[in-house]
Amino acid sequence: MTIDEAPRDVLRGGPRELLRWVATGAAVSRADLSRLSGLSPSTVSQRVEALISQGLLEETGAGRSRGGRRPRQLAVPTGGAVVGAIDLGAHHARVGTLDLSGRVVQARTLPVRIEDGPEAVLGALLAEVTMLVGGDPAASADGSAADALRGIGIGIPGPVQHATGRIVSPSRMPGWNGFDVAAFCAGRVDVPVIVDNDANLMALGAHRTAHSELDHAVYIKAGTGIGSGVISSGRLHRGAQGSAGDISHCRVVADPAPPCTCGNAGCLEAVASGAALVTALRGQGVPVSDLTGVIRLIDDGDRQATALARQAGRAVGEILAVVVNFFNPQVVAIGGRLADCEPLLASMRATLYERCLPLATQTLLIERVAAGQDVGITGAAHLVIDHVVAAA
Ligand SMILES: [Zn+2]
Repeated sequence: MTIDEAPRDVLRGGPRELLRWVATGAAVSRADLSRLSGLSPSTVSQRVEALISQGLLEETGAGRSRGGRRPRQLAVPTGGAVVGAIDLGAHHARVGTLDLSGRVVQARTLPVRIEDGPEAVLGALLAEVTMLVGGDPAASADGSAADALRGIGIGIPGPVQHATGRIVSPSRMPGWNGFDVAAFCAGRVDVPVIVDNDANLMALGAHRTAHSELDHAVYIKAGTGIGSGVISSGRLHRGAQGSAGDISHCRVVADPAPPCTCGNAGCLEAVASGAALVTALRGQGVPVSDLTGVIRLIDDGDRQATALARQAGRAVGEILAVVVNFFNPQVVAIGGRLADCEPLLASMRATLYERCLPLATQTLLIERVAAGQDVGITGAAHLVIDHVVAAA
């Protein structure tokens, strides 16, 4: 499932951008779209008709009159069509349905045992999406629920070859290496399934929710693992194989350098991920079983846990400084469960300012991802929406 993403300048007034303007409320009429895009009214009308015939836009009666005939208002349908989304984590999955504007219709969090393997885990999550669609009165309002589902976006907490939907060498996902998620899903559901890694989905969801006006952004996802997603010229930058933004195995200064799941030592993931913090604390004799326990200790001001969080923040800051100097983003945002960890955030920020060129940080926004627990499924939905619109 490849997505033909054109650079932003080519997209000006393209169907996806027209749809987005209506979805965000920036435009409610053909005249608005014409003004925003700079396209002629006839070109806008043609594109709007195509979107309406695909069920991606609808007309909702009369708008406010400006003297002449009252214009018909455009809207993104809130019933009749939904996209499914799965954001798989190490221990939980967020599953939901969203409308074609990217708004969450229904969502729930399910416990997951990743070690049960891909067939069991994905099979159960696909069944959950199907059940949500079936139980959604809006989706079954016109036509059957099955017809309402336009596609499913899936985020995987490991490297994904985006073009094929195959998982490649994930750490902490025993039994998943080489698994073809897209092919597995194609045998079970009759709609397009688009697969990407969880950091890319967080980046897309966060960017579309806030700062979609900024063209260059880096999103760090710091949870059990650690990764990043890159928005360049307004679109997700995946690189040649889909591994762009994977900072997990970049080497950081650490003494001693802890061994990493990849076989090297001193990788960012082995120093600064949630899993690394759990391992390091246990190594110091602190009886902690998971990331929740670590976060609780940090919140309580535990000396050992706080010191490790600061060290992790410096490590993230070191890698991020290279990224910022190289890429010159307008915003760097951190999400994931460690994003609320104040000592980590403070030392990341300090290291970033210390190591970056002043020109790169002068106007740089450094912030938390604000979109909350649905940011991943929002990103997954936008992958599907972009695909559906491109196909239309
Ligand atoms: Zn490594």
